[in-house]
Amino acid sequence: MSEIKCEYCGKGFSSVYSLSKHKKTASYCIEIQRTQFHLEPEVNIYTCEYCGTVSTTKGNHAAHLGFCKVKKEREHAIEFNKMKDELDTLRKQYELQTIQLVQREKDIETLRLLADEKERQIAEKERHLNLCIAEKNEEIRQLKEQIHSKDIYIQQTPHTTIYQTNNTNHKYEFNFQTVFDKLSPFTDENVKERVGSILPRNLIESNDYNVILNFCSNFGRKLADMVILTDKSRGLIFIKNKDGEKEKHQVKGFVNKCLVLSYPECLQLFTLTRNLLESYSIRDSIMPEDEARCYGDLTILREYLNTQTLDKTIRMISSVVTENCVYVSKLLPGSVEQKMIEEVTE
Ligand SMILES: [Zn+2]
Ligand SMILES: [Zn+2]
Repeated sequence: MSEIKCEYCGKGFSSVYSLSKHKKTASYCIEIQRTQFHLEPEVNIYTCEYCGTVSTTKGNHAAHLGFCKVKKEREHAIEFNKMKDELDTLRKQYELQTIQLVQREKDIETLRLLADEKERQIAEKERHLNLCIAEKNEEIRQLKEQIHSKDIYIQQTPHTTIYQTNNTNHKYEFNFQTVFDKLSPFTDENVKERVGSILPRNLIESNDYNVILNFCSNFGRKLADMVILTDKSRGLIFIKNKDGEKEKHQVKGFVNKCLVLSYPECLQLFTLTRNLLESYSIRDSIMPEDEARCYGDLTILREYLNTQTLDKTIRMISSVVTENCVYVSKLLPGSVEQKMIEEVTE
């Protein structure tokens, strides 16, 4: 059997194929080829990148890689480092989250304190508001009571006092115009008619047979529905003239005009009163001295009227007029207020 020898290492082979395979795969031969013959073999050299082990076939190399301890150690080290890094990252995340959690708990505590404070403030405000409401309700109650007593007072007081108010929604609102609209106009006929309606009996049958006083009282009362008093202390009045227009007067001037206008009616009243005094029916029930005084008063009145020296009489009539007419005032007088308080407490 002919043997073919390897020209590098001298090993014998039975076929060219075997030799060829040997030259390409036997690592000791390849080493000889390199070192002694300075050849770069056409074989593929597989060097382990981890430990430097050389393999001449792909299969050997792959098998080696499966067993290479250095490779495994390195891979383990990489894996270990990777896991260590992950662990570090997780730890850092954990620490960060712990810090955040603590901060959040602090924030929550702060918010809770704030909420408590707000709640306390709201409760305080609510308490305060309730107090205010209670106070206002009490005020409303008192005002209603006042309105009620004023209502009663207005109804029960013989001479009407109207208080003007700016509150147009007010139930008790009266204004000057509505009062003025109801006024009897100041005309000759109206004045004469009123004096004519005074009965002689009204002058002598009451009040101590004081004819002057009774005349003033009756005369004043008759004229009161023609007058609105606006200024008590100065005796300023408004009347409605025959054209329905407003006129401002002094109450004394107004009374004087009425006396002058109704002079004939006054004289007639005095005559009728004298006749009544002389009649039997009255003579039986009146004392002689009272009768004498009545005659005296009638004479004085007639004299006053004739000579226009009625100052004292005019003053008396004026005071009756202003006490019985409608008084329109923007202010509630202290005395009225006091009277209402007394009425409420009674
Ligand atoms: Zn060889
Ligand atoms: Zn290796």
